[in-house]
Amino acid sequence: MSYPARAVVDLAAVRANVRSLAAHAPTAQVMGVVKADGYGHGLLPTASAAIAGGATWLGAAQMDEALALRRGGIVGPRVLTWLYAPGAPLRDALDADIDVSVSAPWALRELADAARAAGRPARAHLKVDTGLGRNGLTPDDLASLLPEVLRLRAEGAVEVVGLWSHLAFADEPEHPTVKLQAEVFADALRTVEGAGVTLEVRHLANSAATLTAPGMHYDLVRPGIAVYGLSPVPQLGGPEDFGLVPAMTLEAELANVKSVPGRHGVSYAHHYVTPGDTVLGLVPLGYADGIPRHASGTQERPGGPVRVGGRTLGVAGRVCMDQVVVDLGPGATERAGDRVELFGTGHDGGPTAQDWAEVAGTISYEIVTRVGARVPRVHVDSEAAS
Ligand SMILES: *Cc1c(COP(=O)(O)O)cnc(C)c1O
Repeated sequence: MSYPARAVVDLAAVRANVRSLAAHAPTAQVMGVVKADGYGHGLLPTASAAIAGGATWLGAAQMDEALALRRGGIVGPRVLTWLYAPGAPLRDALDADIDVSVSAPWALRELADAARAAGRPARAHLKVDTGLGRNGLTPDDLASLLPEVLRLRAEGAVEVVGLWSHLAFADEPEHPTVKLQAEVFADALRTVEGAGVTLEVRHLANSAATLTAPGMHYDLVRPGIAVYGLSPVPQLGGPEDFGLVPAMTLEAELANVKSVPGRHGVSYAHHYVTPGDTVLGLVPLGYADGIPRHASGTQERPGGPVRVGGRTLGVAGRVCMDQVVVDLGPGATERAGDRVELFGTGHDGGPTAQDWAEVAGTISYEIVTRVGARVPRVHVDSEAAS
């Protein structure tokens, strides 16, 4: 292996996480959300592992991602896609047997046109904005669009299989908007079902609601981050508290190790200065690889954590495009080529994506999703017979 860093993804962890999520939501089906290249873990391998763990649906924000699933040979499970602009390849989506979300009147019209062209009904999930203020039809727009929906249904162009929504504060289960959104969703369900539509799946819950709000599971839950073993509610519990195992380990080989004297500036602008004679290690991963520049370190405030030979050290100085430096300490015995870990399961006391998120002032989602395209993903299976 010539690349000196990699994101190792354990597919056994993905399978186990989906089994765990299914156990949290025993009355619902599970949609494994695999948008953004499976949250940076690799689209097809993680999608297959999610299915092996019991997911019967896959979710992808972008239509290209949904099409890539089918092109990649994932034909059994249902696939839902929900984020597109006018002129999207809806015909391709229908030909690939993909379910499509409808969030606006133009989307319904384009979907019906695509269905007529394809000569098969489109399976639509009406998305209602119950309070997130992002995508989706407002409840009023949903009510106004319903007659057109019913006409297209009668024509055979559009089957309405789902009604769905997304929560603004799922990660704060006690937040009053959670209950309010659930009430708006229940109203929207009454409106649609009252018009004579029999819905196959009603769905509202992301990872956080899957783990903390059983009343919101309905027929289908849509976990994303928890599929990859990270906690959506770190203030309430870590992965282990929810039966999850982080699937990605980001590791590298030290590209240089050298002794320097005290008061030696480290990395751009010398935000870190060695306190005394010491040994510096060079880690060949930088912001081009998704290491947040906000996780740079100074003397006062260590940067993002790096596990080196059983100890956890903070990034010293600025995170650069391709590399970061760690101060290995006086007398360190590490050599170039030694393995270091930026984050992983945390089981051995090592750093986690959540730790990096806290140093950088972000969420674990962003840490794993932004691992750069040039970092090889290596898929392993810790349960496979060797
Ligand atoms: C990303 C996304 C999810 C998954 O969210 P997590 O918090 O990662 O579980 C579910 N539904 C929608 C609409 C999404 O955009």
